Amino acid sequence: MADFEFAAPVELDEALRLLSGTPGSRPLAGGTDLIDQLNAGRRTTGLVVDLKRIPVLMRLDVDGDGLHIGGARSCTDVQQHSAVRADYAGLAEACGLIGAVQIQNRAAVAGNVCNAAPSADTIPALISLSAHAIIRSQNGTRDVPLDEFFIGPGQTVLNDGEILEELVLPTPPDSSASAYLRFIPRNEMDIAVAGVGSYLEVDPNSKVITRARIALASVAPTPVRAREAESHLEGKVLSDEVIDEAAALAPNSASPISDVRGSAEFRLELVKVLTARTLRKCAERIG
Ligand SMILES: Cc1cc2nc3c(=O)[nH]c(=O)nc-3n(C[C@H](O)[C@H](O)[C@H](O)COP(=O)(O)OP(=O)(O)OC[C@H]3O[C@@H](n4cnc5c(N)ncnc54)[C@H](O)[C@@H]3O)c2cc1C
Repeated sequence: MADFEFAAPVELDEALRLLSGTPGSRPLAGGTDLIDQLNAGRRTTGLVVDLKRIPVLMRLDVDGDGLHIGGARSCTDVQQHSAVRADYAGLAEACGLIGAVQIQNRAAVAGNVCNAAPSADTIPALISLSAHAIIRSQNGTRDVPLDEFFIGPGQTVLNDGEILEELVLPTPPDSSASAYLRFIPRNEMDIAVAGVGSYLEVDPNSKVITRARIALASVAPTPVRAREAESHLEGKVLSDEVIDEAAALAPNSASPISDVRGSAEFRLELVKVLTARTLRKCAERIG
């Protein structure tokens, strides 16, 4: 691995100063992607700035704005948080699928997001739960809806010197639920051939779907929303039939490639099946 400087500040302002003062420097949350990329020579940097000692980036709590996940908080912490398990089940499911226990203990949800792999597991769950990215730099703060955060494989709207300070997920109402499922060829420790995160919100009396969000992984250069399927669901009474109709529309939003993990055709079929299954899980959870 090529040499680089390492800093572990305890203040966010100091981290921002270091990152903006060294072009090409990289923040590090868990390092499970970054260290591997540096080791393999796929990335080089003169400075790595560890974020895990900065208290504000370890935030994990719920307030009037919803759930706050700090930019260095681990998948394990998020997955085990009682509010996440109760109200953001799709995110808890995604966190519990990343690598294995050791990886989940190190890896941050924000690291998964900023690495921007099309196959990343937390991203569809976060998008389906309408997450926002709060981005900090020395110039101030900006708020970007997560479905506008990704611009290509491994590429995001983050500029040099910017840190994803936190992810904010609005509080879901009572008659709502989320779910995440992926397909991998083995039982664990593999990358999604396709992944789907779904969210449904219904009127508690009429059971009319008032909001539907479906996000897909590993079937396009970036995570994508299945907007046609979402529109089909909204305004209809929740039923098995309407779920199947929406699932059949979901592949229209995908543009997969064929690779060693699966053909494009197989991925389109997976999108249909996983969309139907995640929507059914949402329906069961809503009751
Ligand atoms: C054995 C193994 C299995 C894996 N299995 C899976 C899997 O099943 N599913 C999956 O999705 N991923 C998997 N991964 C990939 C990886 O573990 C995840 O993407 C993880 O969530 C990355 O988080 P991290 O904190 O380690 O990121 P890091 O490696 O620290 O950072 C990743 C990138 O994001 C940037 N970054 C990190 N935090 C911030 C921030 N707050 N602000 C701005 N930029 C930031 C870094 O500069 C770097 O470019 C696996 C990795 C390994 C090694």
